[in-house]
Amino acid sequence: MNFFDKMHELTNVRLNEVQKQAVRYADGPLLLLASPGSGKTTTLNMKIGYLMLVKKVPASKILAITFSKASASDMEARFEQFFHTLTMERVQFSTIHSFAFKIVREYFRMNSINYQLIEGEKGSYLHKRNIIRTIFIEHRKIAPTEDEMDELLSYISFAKNKMVSDTELGKIDCSIGEAAKIYKAYDTFKKQNPQNLLVDFDDMLTYCYEILRDDTVVRHKYQQLYDYVLTDESQDNSVVQHEIVQILAAPQNNLCVVADDDQSIFMWRGADVSRLLNFQTIYANGKIVTMAQNYRSTKEIVDTANQFIKRNKNRYDKTMFTENPQGKKIEIRNMRRFDLQLNYLVDEIQKATTPKEMIVLYRNNASAIRLIDQLEKKDIPFYMKDVDVKFFRHWIVEDVLNFMRLSYNDSRVDILEKIYPKMNAYIKKAQITQLLASNDQSSCFDQLQKNIHAPYQEQALRKAKKLIKSINSMAPQEAIDVIRKQLGYDKSLKNVAERLGFNEEHLLSTISQLEHLSEGLPNLEAFAQRLKDLEEIMQTSRFNKNENVVTLSTLHSSKGLEFDCVYMIDLIDGIIPSKEDMKDFKEGNSEKMDEAVRLFYVGMTRARHHLELLTYTMKDEESVSPSAFIDDVKKIMLGEAVGELQLSDKVLKDEVVRSKSVVTNKSYQTKKVRDIPKDAIKSRDELQRGTVVLHQVYDQGYVKQINDEEIEIIFD
Ligand code: ATP
Ligand code: MG
Repeated sequence: MNFFDKMHELTNVRLNEVQKQAVRYADGPLLLLASPGSGKTTTLNMKIGYLMLVKKVPASKILAITFSKASASDMEARFEQFFHTLTMERVQFSTIHSFAFKIVREYFRMNSINYQLIEGEKGSYLHKRNIIRTIFIEHRKIAPTEDEMDELLSYISFAKNKMVSDTELGKIDCSIGEAAKIYKAYDTFKKQNPQNLLVDFDDMLTYCYEILRDDTVVRHKYQQLYDYVLTDESQDNSVVQHEIVQILAAPQNNLCVVADDDQSIFMWRGADVSRLLNFQTIYANGKIVTMAQNYRSTKEIVDTANQFIKRNKNRYDKTMFTENPQGKKIEIRNMRRFDLQLNYLVDEIQKATTPKEMIVLYRNNASAIRLIDQLEKKDIPFYMKDVDVKFFRHWIVEDVLNFMRLSYNDSRVDILEKIYPKMNAYIKKAQITQLLASNDQSSCFDQLQKNIHAPYQEQALRKAKKLIKSINSMAPQEAIDVIRKQLGYDKSLKNVAERLGFNEEHLLSTISQLEHLSEGLPNLEAFAQRLKDLEEIMQTSRFNKNENVVTLSTLHSSKGLEFDCVYMIDLIDGIIPSKEDMKDFKEGNSEKMDEAVRLFYVGMTRARHHLELLTYTMKDEESVSPSAFIDDVKKIMLGEAVGELQLSDKVLKDEVVRSKSVVTNKSYQTKKVRDIPKDAIKSRDELQRGTVVLHQVYDQGYVKQINDEEIEIIFD
């Protein structure tokens, strides 16, 4: 039996001619540039099997590299599944980082260089972020905001990955003043002690590259170690990563690069697609194979996604097609309000018979928090792909907890010190300093009364004291409302946003999330405990991906995966595309928008049969606009021309416009939905044609028809 027949028997996949050609093309550089679901990863795996079983290449001579840990283990699992009966040999599936770090560690050991990791779980107290923050302060004489820190970290990572020279550093788009200087100071700081280097993740790559480039012995050793090098998802490789792969594969250049430029979603981290598009310039004898047939998804999904990606003009034009059946229509759900999306999702997950065939995708991790809260309350298990507990460590969360702490004992100056500028009691720093110096154990507010700096402070202090005391016995949701509205916290957030350049919507949405998480909890202790529990639930994923549970993932981490049912959520302007994507685009720079389009495309193409795009028009009592990309998808489905992107003007304006009449109207409805228990309607007799009903998920509707079997309700 020949290899391909055997593979068909084992995996039920019969490779097509192009795939077979790619499998057989073992010697020399090969670029497999192909659409999602066209079998790139499958072909790569088969190729490794072919090398081992047909060409008798020992497993130790083959190096398979992927971008993320998850894809390395996915690929290894698929390989095991295919080949475990045929070979006991193990192939090395590595992420580029872990492989690079191995070389660096070995080199450091041989040359007696000590090093200290400053990033990741095993990073020491001397952490990358803290070091950069300190350097920022040294240069700018002011503390950076977290948003500025994020931008700076991206800038540094981008510059490293793109191997930008010192003279070019200033040309990278970055709004942080002196970014280039901070970058260089950070680099110098890490190398301060040449015998004990500080190393972050990006340095692992740079050091690896420099070692391979400069040390002939190490270079030859690794070049001889591997006869075949294969890389999946190469569209996300950065310049330095490409350089490493290029050196390792030389001089034979038995290199198989698998990629899809339309799925490049890490440009912001320095990914470099131009390398792929110039493959034949780099390798004169390089062969490029393209594959356009999608085996994963229904025709409905393939055709729609294929049209959608064509919005991007700057791409290697290809047309994805499929011979799969048409399948169901893509579902676009505009849920009116955010909480309805949440209810709907929970309902769908609860109803699913095979939840492990279901994935919920979002752009930002923040989208997962309230969903997890709900799932956990209802005892619905889930698997979370990439855990990020940043939310629980946010200073807003800490502020709210501090207000609550103070309500137990308002003589705690140490707590008041942390929040006094964030309440409307006109407390000055000098007053706090005085309190700190005194030994008085009485209420801080009473102490302050003895030394007010202006007559109006007296009443403000009295009010603040009373309010803080009162929240102690309140339900947490009510307490947060008092903190926000009566103690002036919301106002202070707006000030902070204005003065320090934070994104105001982001701040307000963080506090709203917190308020929602407090829903239904009896007291402040329960609230604090709930936050702790949620953080722990997220961190200690109690289920793994092999169990029959739903997966939650960011769009970025869903790369390469496939599921029967995909739910893309929070598809609104301001999230995808983000405000920055939109702003740049309006200013004539489409790079970020193109990447958002690709990210959306990656999401859509994960689905085998069922794709749902979820959006809403109201969040936290503010109107929002469904993503412009949804408009595109709708038009494609209706056979209309896509045309210009219809971006929400509102999101582009700095000021968030609050439409007052809508707000009152909708908040009233929110209450109604919450207050009506699910089984409020006890008997069918209460319903008749025209009765207006409220549904947990679909919101308001009216009864159209009733018969003995069914009640037909039309929802908006
Ligand atoms: P992505 O770009 O999303 O990573 P991919 O190109 O790597 O996608 P695979 O994951 O390898 O695609 O394959 C997608 C699906 O198509 C898998 O379920 C795989 O088993 C199936 N498949 C691949 N090739 C064939 C084929 N020739 N016949 C039938 N099914 C195939
Ligand atoms: Mg793949």
